[in-house]
Amino acid sequence: MAIGIYPGSFDPVTKGHLDIIQRASKIVDKLYVTVLVNNAKKPLFSDRERVEMIKMVTADIPNVEVLSYDGLTVEFARQIGATVMIRGLRAVTDFEYELQIAQTNRVIAPDIDTIFLTTNLKYAYLSSSIVKEVSFYKGDVDEFVPEQIVELVHNKVSAYKNGTQD
Ligand code: ADP
Repeated sequence: MAIGIYPGSFDPVTKGHLDIIQRASKIVDKLYVTVLVNNAKKPLFSDRERVEMIKMVTADIPNVEVLSYDGLTVEFARQIGATVMIRGLRAVTDFEYELQIAQTNRVIAPDIDTIFLTTNLKYAYLSSSIVKEVSFYKGDVDEFVPEQIVELVHNKVSAYKNGTQD
């Protein structure tokens, strides 16, 4: 049985991420989507919120499970028995960074292979940062995030703007 891990910040999960999740779930028997807790990127959404949002948008994919983790991704991959790491590639700008991570992981965990899925062209421009930026300036994010979380994103960004974020 092939177990895959798709790690990331998912701050928040976008339609681009969801597209990768849907496709990866057909490649492996079981896919863990894992949210990195202690992230230098200082996420807007808490780890619980990020996990909950991914759960909401993947509820109809039976072989997907969502978890949060801390520490080295390959260590966590080993703990959950994953041998395939999924990453998404949007443009050449992603490539250098992703290649470096994959090569590092290959040195510290030769038992885990990275598979890159190229983005659906519809979402090639899309990132979590863009979603937050658009929402911050009151733009519509319906095009960018799955509909189940549109309101959550809007509310979180508004709370952040008003300084009432918990
Ligand atoms: P990280 O902080 O690990 O880069 P992200 O949540 O930003 O976490 O992204 C997780 C993974 O999803 C990365 O491999 C990233 O390249 C990929 N990804 C992000 N946005 C898209 C998109 N629009 N299409 C395809 N892959 C994407």
